[in-house]
Amino acid sequence: GVAARAVDVWKTYGSGDAAVTALAGVSVDLEKSRFTAIMGPSGSGKSTLMHCLAGLDDVTRGEVWVGDTKVTGLKDRGLTDLRRDKVGFIFQQFNLLPTLTAEENITLPLSIGGKKVDREWFDVVIETVGLRDRLSHRPTQLSGGQQQRVACARALVSRPEVVFADEPTGNLDSQSGAEVLAFLRKSAHEFGQTIVMVTHDPNAASYADRVIFLKDGHIVRELLSPTADEVL
Ligand code: ADP
Ligand code: ADP
Repeated sequence: GVAARAVDVWKTYGSGDAAVTALAGVSVDLEKSRFTAIMGPSGSGKSTLMHCLAGLDDVTRGEVWVGDTKVTGLKDRGLTDLRRDKVGFIFQQFNLLPTLTAEENITLPLSIGGKKVDREWFDVVIETVGLRDRLSHRPTQLSGGQQQRVACARALVSRPEVVFADEPTGNLDSQSGAEVLAFLRKSAHEFGQTIVMVTHDPNAASYADRVIFLKDGHIVRELLSPTADEVL
């Protein structure tokens, strides 16, 4: 099945002489339970594509779907529901709340949505991400790698249709980055979680099942299960 879909998506910022075409007719199906990386030079449209797929940005033309929800045309209420229930996010800067413990950060999306924590699933995620003995720590008491693993657990705890990761290893040393990437890969393969990651780093992209290359707002190339050398 398809977890997210872009159909001939165009995105233009500004208008008239100042218009910038960030996406120029992108069509892609993101299969369920796969780990997909989006690569490409700076300014090629990676962030724009991810934001459009996640409903954080509206498209100028074309359609976006997440699961069986047509994102294009959703109003505020529908977009709020989408962001809360159907997608998870992992950011380069972790974006944890400093006054909350790791556990409180992880369960926050559920608390906000008034939902119960599935304890069995929570335990599976915590074991897999290796945070069992860090749950009562606050972000300042954790290393960068541990903070990003908290963010990974937070993104997965509600079992969203798609987890979007924007340069998730951009602020990590290579060892911590490798742990985060191995976790994302395992989330796809063992838990069936669909993961979409934007990255500059060929080594990071080599963990993905599929790598899509953007240039000037177009998909120009695609690789399946590549090695780091192939991604370069
Ligand atoms: P990437 O993530 O690959 O670096 P982006 O999606 O951020 O690329 O940007 C694609 C193009 O759209 C670039 O030319 C960028 O300058 C432009 N762009 C992105 N966001 C905005 C914005 N909010 N307003 C105007 N132009 C933008
Ligand atoms: P596990 O023990 O769960 O298999 P690993 O840390 O061994 O976790 O890695 C998970 C997957 O990530 C492996 O199947 C491997 O294909 C891939 N992987 C591991 N290291 C690298 C690397 N340096 N570059 C690309 N892919 C890697």
